[in-house]
Amino acid sequence: MRLIAANWKMHKTQRETKEFLESFLKLLGNPADREVLICPPFTSLCVASEILKDSPVKLGAQNCYYERQGAFTGEISLPMLKELGCEYVIIGHSERRNIFLESDELINKKLTACLEEGIRPILCVGEKLEDREAGLTFKVVETQIRLALSGIESYTDSLDIAYEPVWAIGTGVPATPEDAVSVHRFIRELLGKLNPKSEGKTRILYGGSVKPDNAKEFMKYEEIQGFLVGGASLKPESFVQIVNSF
Ligand code: PEP
Repeated sequence: MRLIAANWKMHKTQRETKEFLESFLKLLGNPADREVLICPPFTSLCVASEILKDSPVKLGAQNCYYERQGAFTGEISLPMLKELGCEYVIIGHSERRNIFLESDELINKKLTACLEEGIRPILCVGEKLEDREAGLTFKVVETQIRLALSGIESYTDSLDIAYEPVWAIGTGVPATPEDAVSVHRFIRELLGKLNPKSEGKTRILYGGSVKPDNAKEFMKYEEIQGFLVGGASLKPESFVQIVNSF
């Protein structure tokens, strides 16, 4: 089933979260054949969890720490997220990698902890503009995935991957669907090599300037099993249009 996920980043107070979700649920109805996920900031998880508990919409977090508890000031653990009803966590978003300098090693530890805790991670990968211009897209994506999945290769069915070219995030300039599809095919092949016993349950999402007016073009391709949406997920009307784009 395709997954359409909202990454709100550092947007929306509790009050704004409540307003969004109330109108979003009315507009959404009961979506068939697709999974819809909202990842608000930590401070909104509690209110979102209350509102979404009897709805078809799932709840996720944008980050986590890999230890279960302890002296880690400012961090949030997976048991804390699980108790709030989070079923997903975004791991290794390019903003975490580039602004907060998260390493592949840290991302690997977080993924491992998610799998142990039974929360489904969405691993984000993607090349920077200079990588693409140097013809390094596949190399960069392969390295990120190999390092992220080091030691947990046989669990690929328990996670999803978002291909998000860094130059397309928040810029209004998406990848062409054809370019995205070629990277998605490459990732699928790589997953097959890393986990030959895979049942193909990993969804490969596209992220990067997905909007209501371009979502349909991506959804024509079976290789694109969903979206991770930033800016266009902040308004109920535009996110609903993206969810309903196929
Ligand atoms: C994202 O934050 O993962 C993202 C894809 O953002 P945007 O849709 O705004 O490009």
